[in-house]
Amino acid sequence: MLVRFPMLRHEVVVVGAGLAGQRAALAAVQAGRDVAIVTKLHPLRSHSGAAQGGINAAIGPNDSIDAHIYDTVKGSDYLGDQDAIEYFCREAGPTVIEMEHFGTIFSRAEDGTLAQRPFGGAGFPRTVYAADRTGLALLQGLWERLGSEQFTLYEEWELARIIVRDGRVQGIVAADRRKGGLQEVAAKAVVIATGGAGRIYGRTTNAHSCTGDGMAAAYRAGAFLKDMEFVQFHPTALLEGGILVTEGARGEGGILMNAKGERFMSKYAPKVLELASRDVVARAIMTEILEGRGFTGPYGPYVHLELMHLGREKIESRLQEICDLCRSFAGMDPVTAPIPISPAQHYMMGGVGTNIPGETNIPGLYSAGEAACVSIHGANRLGGNSLMETLVFGKSAGAAAAEYAAKAPTPSLTQGDLDAVTGTFRDWFLRKDGEDPSALRTELQQTMDRYVNIFRNEADLAEGLRRVRALKERFSRVRVVDQSTVFNLNLSDAVETEHLIDLAEVILVGAYARTESRGAHYRTDYPKRDDAKWMKHTLAQATPTGPVLSYSPVAFTRWEPKERVY
Ligand SMILES: Cc1cc2nc3c(=O)[nH]c(=O)nc-3n(C[C@H](O)[C@H](O)[C@H](O)COP(=O)(O)OP(=O)(O)OC[C@H]3O[C@@H](n4cnc5c(N)ncnc54)[C@H](O)[C@@H]3O)c2cc1C
Repeated sequence: MLVRFPMLRHEVVVVGAGLAGQRAALAAVQAGRDVAIVTKLHPLRSHSGAAQGGINAAIGPNDSIDAHIYDTVKGSDYLGDQDAIEYFCREAGPTVIEMEHFGTIFSRAEDGTLAQRPFGGAGFPRTVYAADRTGLALLQGLWERLGSEQFTLYEEWELARIIVRDGRVQGIVAADRRKGGLQEVAAKAVVIATGGAGRIYGRTTNAHSCTGDGMAAAYRAGAFLKDMEFVQFHPTALLEGGILVTEGARGEGGILMNAKGERFMSKYAPKVLELASRDVVARAIMTEILEGRGFTGPYGPYVHLELMHLGREKIESRLQEICDLCRSFAGMDPVTAPIPISPAQHYMMGGVGTNIPGETNIPGLYSAGEAACVSIHGANRLGGNSLMETLVFGKSAGAAAAEYAAKAPTPSLTQGDLDAVTGTFRDWFLRKDGEDPSALRTELQQTMDRYVNIFRNEADLAEGLRRVRALKERFSRVRVVDQSTVFNLNLSDAVETEHLIDLAEVILVGAYARTESRGAHYRTDYPKRDDAKWMKHTLAQATPTGPVLSYSPVAFTRWEPKERVY
């Protein structure tokens, strides 16, 4: 059985050590607070490190901040909050320069300035990159910078619960996987930076660690989840697992071809072809496949992404990682053959609802990065805007949490806070018969892949919701068979699966209610965008019987909604 360790105290606890968490921690330390980072992975193994293509900032000679704002507003299908988008695009330039000064080695143009490549939905080459390993380069630069500051790192710790009492945050309870114990940490402010939840789906580009833990814990603690029905599918993923082939491949000039040898994007986005925004390209690929113009293969239907015409030198220097992935995992060489690709889940536009400083509806609880929804991505995120979001809003959330913590009263945790988690885990351990969490997770993923994918309709969503609720009911009898305490991954699996099921239910309830098509949420039974009825954010709050929805207005500044064509 798990040990209970004595309580710890910190002023600001940041949960998550990806780009958002590290940037938040740096800002809070610089504001003079006592900061701890709690993370279930080593910081450099966070999913941010898997980012390939690049990070957006309007710093090129022919680009402008207004153009970046407009592209992001249009890309969001007008659901992004324009005040937040304006703030984001203004901060982007200084942020890239700051990361360069922190030690990130970006790719360079011939004249020595930062190189930029075109990305989908952008009018200019706006994406700064480090070959096709941009995330790792950023993560390493930031980790080295943070390392010169004083803070405490709790690694291999898994957030189990956020404690809210007297109308504010009091701290967290986490499981220490390495020592096999439960740990209370009292904190004046908590920043949730736990990343995305791609593992709700079976076919996803996300790492196995992307299980939405922070979103689910915040939701249970009373925070609003915002716009969760907007799930991004990346157009180009490899094999049955969905390994990402970066948008940078199209940015460098890659083209999409169907089985009839047609460059089909000319039908769907005549002006910008492969560089339309992701929802448009993903739907185009799926339409080709569903109408019989795809290839068939051992891993399901697909279309071709051709790079061969770019030449060996460009492919091997700008897309090194893609060459490695294709050669090692797919047994093919993109220099000489087309890459077989089809869409896969990639990103959650929704998350813990926040404002620009990262505040949630619970005093003392903040969020940033993919776990949060500010919202700058609205109904569809542009490639390259997420890495930038982690840094811009990580910094503002860390600074705001530090300012709050400087004035907040001393937090108080009670024995009951820990008992609630210990009691749940004990039930899971002691059960003699019950459900296997990994089997429930697999069924959940199959349900989401089948019923809540790129094309949605009322009957599928109703069936998906019925199935997810049945899984939730079965989870109440979950059993942890492995009785060991140290690195008990069976226990982690149960914790994460419960989170995934909660989030899946929120996605389904929001998607069922939203009777329109906007950005990544495409309803075949309601194929048009309906601004009169649905120009609003979905908010979901937890109740004992499931999520209850309400809605909040979208912030407009200078851009009126128009039809979105590429
Ligand atoms: C393959 C891939 C390629 C991408 N490429 C790009 C790109 O080129 N450009 C772009 O803009 N975006 C890209 N994205 C999106 C972008 O990388 C992510 O949205 C972003 O990096 C998320 O950063 P984050 O800091 O919010 O979370 P992450 O980097 O995912 O970090 C999450 C952190 O939370 C911790 N954590 C999670 N759960 C718990 C828990 N229960 N307890 C304690 N700690 C926990 C983890 O240990 C980790 O440290 C890509 C995404 C993927 C999957």
